[in-house]
Amino acid sequence: MILDGKALAARVRAELKTSVARLTAQGVKPTLAVILVGDDPASQVYVRNKIAACGDVGIESRAFRFPADCAPAEVFAAIDALNADPTVHGILVQLPLPPQFDETEVIERIALAKDVDGFHAENLGRLWQGRPCFAPCTPAGVMRLLAEANVDLVGAEAVIVGRSNIVGKPMAALLLQAGATVTLAHSRTRDLAAVTQRADVLVVAVGRPGLITGAMIKPGAVVIDVGINRLDDGRLVGDVDFASAQPVAKAITPVPGGVGPMTIAMLLANTVTAAERQLQSQDAS
Ligand code: NAD
Repeated sequence: MILDGKALAARVRAELKTSVARLTAQGVKPTLAVILVGDDPASQVYVRNKIAACGDVGIESRAFRFPADCAPAEVFAAIDALNADPTVHGILVQLPLPPQFDETEVIERIALAKDVDGFHAENLGRLWQGRPCFAPCTPAGVMRLLAEANVDLVGAEAVIVGRSNIVGKPMAALLLQAGATVTLAHSRTRDLAAVTQRADVLVVAVGRPGLITGAMIKPGAVVIDVGINRLDDGRLVGDVDFASAQPVAKAITPVPGGVGPMTIAMLLANTVTAAERQLQSQDAS
């Protein structure tokens, strides 16, 4: 089975459109502020895609662009103003930032209630504690794909390859919460194949084309490929060698068209949730 993230993301977006229309009718127009520093071409594309996706479901987006050599204080001032603006529900700072920035410091400047990327340390802490928070978009999108495919996670062996703060670690928290036995593998893991072969659910987020081959996958496993790699010939591939993995796996995500579209859909979902929470807190006060 191919897990079609593009089709699922389209369904999620259709649901969100309804929620956005309802909120707008109640006087709250869900709004996402996007901060972009510098002119990294990949970041430009990501920001353009996020803004277009917002427009598609009726979320208002506001872009704030800064030159690559701007002082961090300018960006902090913009974040402070957005934190204080009740018409803005989500704030996203596109990473990476130029070297004069400390990315952690920038992310932690964002109000917790508006951290729709879910990268703030307190959001991640809350995620591990199972408390209300914004789950980072990529792992949240993976969970939605697994739910859609009716993958039973309770007691399942889940292996995640990659331990980044934005994918691997929050993915571990979500799978653990769903009842899986979780292993986090990484660049220092000895005998990666022995670890991945145990997985009923294998999530790969490394950024190395062809790292995982069919021989490293347990027959009947569900394989989620988070990796996005651009080859010299221009093709976009994941970290899993699709041709050898597909015959072994029960279900697998393609690249492109798997996790990528779900990441953006979850960003929209978090923005709508932020707006809903704001409306609820208005009603309660
Ligand atoms: P990262 O570079 O921060 O982390 C990579 C991880 O891979 C590290 O934890 C490292 O220990 C591990 N690693 C490196 N070499 C390894 C090896 N040989 N064996 C095992 N583990 C190894 O990357 P990231 O930000 O987590 O992104 C990972 C990949 O996912 C990239 O290709 C990125 O483009 C992609 N990505 C996709 C989406 C999406 O929406 N689909 C979102 C975020 C990231």
